[in-house]
Amino acid sequence: QKQLCFKGERVTWIQPTTLKELVALKSQYPNAKLVVGNTEVGIEMRLKNMLYPVIIAPAWISEMNAVQHTETGVTFGAACTLSLVEEVLRKAVAELPPYKTEVFQAVLEQLRWFAGPQIRNVAALGGNIMTASPISDLNPVLMASESKLTLVSNEGKRTITMDEKFFTGYRKTTVKPEEILLSVEIPYSKKGEYFSAFKQASRREDDIAIVTCGMRVLFQDGTKRIEKIKLSYGGMAPTTVLALKTCQELSGRDWNEKLLQDACRLLAGEMDLSPSAPGGMVDFRRTLTLSFFFKFYLTVLQKLS
Ligand code: FAD
Repeated sequence: QKQLCFKGERVTWIQPTTLKELVALKSQYPNAKLVVGNTEVGIEMRLKNMLYPVIIAPAWISEMNAVQHTETGVTFGAACTLSLVEEVLRKAVAELPPYKTEVFQAVLEQLRWFAGPQIRNVAALGGNIMTASPISDLNPVLMASESKLTLVSNEGKRTITMDEKFFTGYRKTTVKPEEILLSVEIPYSKKGEYFSAFKQASRREDDIAIVTCGMRVLFQDGTKRIEKIKLSYGGMAPTTVLALKTCQELSGRDWNEKLLQDACRLLAGEMDLSPSAPGGMVDFRRTLTLSFFFKFYLTVLQKLS
């Protein structure tokens, strides 16, 4: 297989065959767009009049299409389609003990309401992350689960955790222009760890979220006392966010009605929106942040009993 290159009047399309070629191209053209499913870039170019003179397609790079089961989770190449992610996680959920697959089940729940099959068959996991949309359905799950992102460039590889520092602004991330997202590790959950994801949209099928979230709690061994909690929301700010202050205050607390009340009070303060926030529906969105936590509270309570 040889590298492909199509040169048009306005756009050059390059399809390399190896990772080495790919990182060399990205360092030569740091502003080039990597395109997999084209479900974001296509819309930007056709409907928003954006022009990307150099497009690089990583479709042939085996590392970016690989799936690996590791000690700590499942690693997907960034170019894996959402349909493939769904198939692999469905199998893992069927085969592994349920306590290990809390995060996988939440990803599957989000994918169930993610676009339609035509989009899921071509859109990549990496494309969803790197678009850095504030209403991405997967980013809150990846952030609350502390999924690991491996980046690669001419300088080598580095692995980072998707945390509150990953998204630096509207559609911006800490990934450098010459870097490529190589793979994403979605972790196994542990015993005593519970995870949920929720999405509210105007209609159920194939719609953009109004608010979306990923929620995780880990309890101290054999107790109902919180060791760690991560609540991540989309649709409440220019980026996917973590309710850091709320999570901090709730650590060490027992899972009971008092906690529910305090969490709602804290979330209402932290997940605030100005009356003129883009997207509108300000009261509805604020209420959703609390109703999602209420659902999570009840789901976990049931699992604990
Ligand atoms: P592309 O368009 O190919 O690329 C997107 C961006 O990511 C580009 O900027 C590209 O340069 C960058 N990129 C891609 N891979 C890499 C990499 N490995 N390293 C660095 N940068 C990279 N999103 C939701 O969250 N929920 C939905 O319900 C949903 N529904 C949709 C419905 C429709 C009809 C459409 C058109 C889109 C929808 N989306 C939704 C958005 C979109 O489908 C997803 O974000 C998708 O995962 C993007 O993947 P892609 O491969 O098509 O991205």
